[in-house]
Amino acid sequence: MTRTGAAAGNKEDVVYDVIVVGARVAGASTAMLLARAGYRVLMVDRDRVVRDALSTLYIHQPGVAALHRWNVLPEVVATGCPPLERIRHTAGHTVLEGTPCRTDGVPAAYAPRRRLLDPILIRAAVDAGVEYRPNTSVNDLLFEDGRVVGVRTGSVRGDAEHIERARLVVGADGMHSTVAARVRAPVLLQDPHHTCVYYTYWSGLPPRLRTFEAPGRWVATIPTNDGATLVAAYFRQELFTAVRGDAPNALLGQVEKTAPEVREEMAAGHRLEHVHGTGDQRNFFREAQGPGWVLVGDAGHHKDSITAQGITDAFCQAQLLADCVGDGLQDPESLSTALKRFAEQRLDALLPAYRGTLKEARMESRVPRTDVPLGMEIDQELAIP
Ligand SMILES: Cc1cc2nc3c(=O)[nH]c(=O)nc-3n(C[C@H](O)[C@H](O)[C@H](O)COP(=O)(O)OP(=O)(O)OC[C@H]3O[C@@H](n4cnc5c(N)ncnc54)[C@H](O)[C@@H]3O)c2cc1C
Repeated sequence: MTRTGAAAGNKEDVVYDVIVVGARVAGASTAMLLARAGYRVLMVDRDRVVRDALSTLYIHQPGVAALHRWNVLPEVVATGCPPLERIRHTAGHTVLEGTPCRTDGVPAAYAPRRRLLDPILIRAAVDAGVEYRPNTSVNDLLFEDGRVVGVRTGSVRGDAEHIERARLVVGADGMHSTVAARVRAPVLLQDPHHTCVYYTYWSGLPPRLRTFEAPGRWVATIPTNDGATLVAAYFRQELFTAVRGDAPNALLGQVEKTAPEVREEMAAGHRLEHVHGTGDQRNFFREAQGPGWVLVGDAGHHKDSITAQGITDAFCQAQLLADCVGDGLQDPESLSTALKRFAEQRLDALLPAYRGTLKEARMESRVPRTDVPLGMEIDQELAIP
């Protein structure tokens, strides 16, 4: 079913129901769901090819449950990333063992490489009827009577500008969102940076999902594709300049101090890639909507990556937006009500995890724990002598 009745050709016609700016976890899933709802969707991304995004890859159960509901989980599993059914967390002398919290009957978490996950979502969007234009940058928005009515696009090299019109422009263009900047989306909530993070991929480690914490330190091992394990270390933000100066040794040193058993295991394997990382761990909520525009994913909300929520949040926002819009996209009043409902429910849904993440990101000692990382259900508590 196609809901749009508009014809192409006349510049004044609305050609697309929706233009989605950004084709990664937030944009591709939003575009896919709106196309499956029968809307005519254009999705653009300035990247020509999909590269690995900065990410420690972990998808929480609600995110995996969304992939399952959308019928794309089998393709993700087929990439060979192992199911993560047990998690072990070490904090000082306490070890907690458990399972990631089950959602909608999905028993495992997954951590697929982003260069594999993101194309699966893009393909699902295209299969649903989305018109996808890579290598296309949105340079500006079109406004009429205070309302966003389209985008100005160009190739990344800056040639041939095009104008595309739509009833709704979705900014899924990441933390440094052009859409958010052009609509001057107000910042609703902002907190200081707390951490910086570096990680790499290692061979020869046991395929076990583990986290380790100590005051000012946090380490994780996350099994991913091709038998590799992602090894990540978090540091306090004030150490960023020093850590960036020698990230490989800083990473190994943090692992040695925080997770000596992992450092020993690493001796049997080797580093498979460069060390990746960032200190740009912003914490904010932007206003999520306005006339003719809405923000999803990192464009509207970002938090420290220590709780590994961004992908799951992106999927939940995509689903929430599609549910709120329903069949009301073509009537401006219904659309406006739907976008306001989306913004309200987004804040309600994401605020508790935002607060929890800030607490986690301070990396203060909290043993014995009253809360647990990565949404685990504990079934065993051990004391290390
Ligand atoms: C170090 C680190 C570790 C992380 N680990 C995890 C984790 O383990 N689990 C987890 O769930 N999350 C994690 N995250 C967060 C997660 O990676 C992000 O929340 C998620 O990638 C956001 O997706 P997005 O689609 O909103 O934005 P992005 O992935 O940033 O995609 C935005 C897209 O928009 C495109 N774009 C931007 N501007 C324009 C423009 N003007 N025109 C056209 N296209 C444009 C870009 O090319 C890009 O493809 C981590 C983040 C970091 C930094």
